[in-house]
Amino acid sequence: MIKLELIVPVQAEQCIALLKRMPKGHPVRPIVEKDLRIWLKGYYGELNVGYHLSFLPEEEYYIFHGLRLKDKMAFQMDLLLVSAKFALIIEVKNISGKLIFKKGSDLMTRELNNVEEGMDNPIQQVKRHHLQFNNWLKVHQFKGIPVEHLVVISKTSTIIETTPDNIQIFEKLIYAESLIDKIKELEMKYTKPRITKKIISDLSDTLLKEHEIFLPDVLQKYTISQSDIRTGVQCPNCDVFYMKYLSANWYCSRCKFTSKTAHLPAIKDYFLIISQTLKRKQLAEYLHIDLIKARNLLLSLKLPSTGTKRSTKYYLPKNCILSPLNENDMKKGEFFT
Ligand SMILES: [Zn+2]
Repeated sequence: MIKLELIVPVQAEQCIALLKRMPKGHPVRPIVEKDLRIWLKGYYGELNVGYHLSFLPEEEYYIFHGLRLKDKMAFQMDLLLVSAKFALIIEVKNISGKLIFKKGSDLMTRELNNVEEGMDNPIQQVKRHHLQFNNWLKVHQFKGIPVEHLVVISKTSTIIETTPDNIQIFEKLIYAESLIDKIKELEMKYTKPRITKKIISDLSDTLLKEHEIFLPDVLQKYTISQSDIRTGVQCPNCDVFYMKYLSANWYCSRCKFTSKTAHLPAIKDYFLIISQTLKRKQLAEYLHIDLIKARNLLLSLKLPSTGTKRSTKYYLPKNCILSPLNENDMKKGEFFT
């Protein structure tokens, strides 16, 4: 049973929002485009692994995608599976080329088109998550659940290479195709239930309650000035900025398209790029509308908020979904390459 759905990583959404709203010739664009490709690649890898997990018996496994918890430091697990017998943390890697693992190294080397590149060793990474998750379980008083970890390579076209004295890594490093067999192996290792259904359900509720998506400050990360970010509502039909708000409809003066919902992606972009809080006045300036319209739009969205009247601050919903991305938005990333 999927308890936390796989979503497009918020960092990819931030890159897409930036590419939409940054001037065409901005010097940072190529970096944002590169990052977007990396985030989307990771997402498609996880989608593939999710497909393999769909063969597991629904009622036995609780599946969490992208759970981000706090131990002393925050950690995000690509996948967490919880059953009555064990929990399994999975780090998914969707990397092209050849991956070379050296014994005991915190780095792995990726070879692609005769270029070598050092990358974090995902086995070490998932081991750290394992320790952090064990601590988290202890702090939240969930006892008796054995925890396992794995790195899953999402594509069989990725070549893995290591030295003969290091082949034990294949205990923890597998291809997505072998994932179900590996889980069956773990079922043979842990035959008896360790926790009751009630505890699994409590654990699941606590995990979801403690899950917190991290929104990096992208203007700072890419050193982009806020004045480089286009304001206003983009026409969903012809992509032009900006639509006018006339009698509760967004109107494009270029292609004459009208929409009742075109402000949703714009408001989401505001949260993703500019600030994690939004006030009525800021929205009015950003969407080029008056304060009363801004207030009405904000009220209609039913966003989480704090404060009252004019000083009310609004926030993105906890899952960061205000208007879901469609396939087309994601492919736009490719158009920028
Ligand atoms: Zn238009």
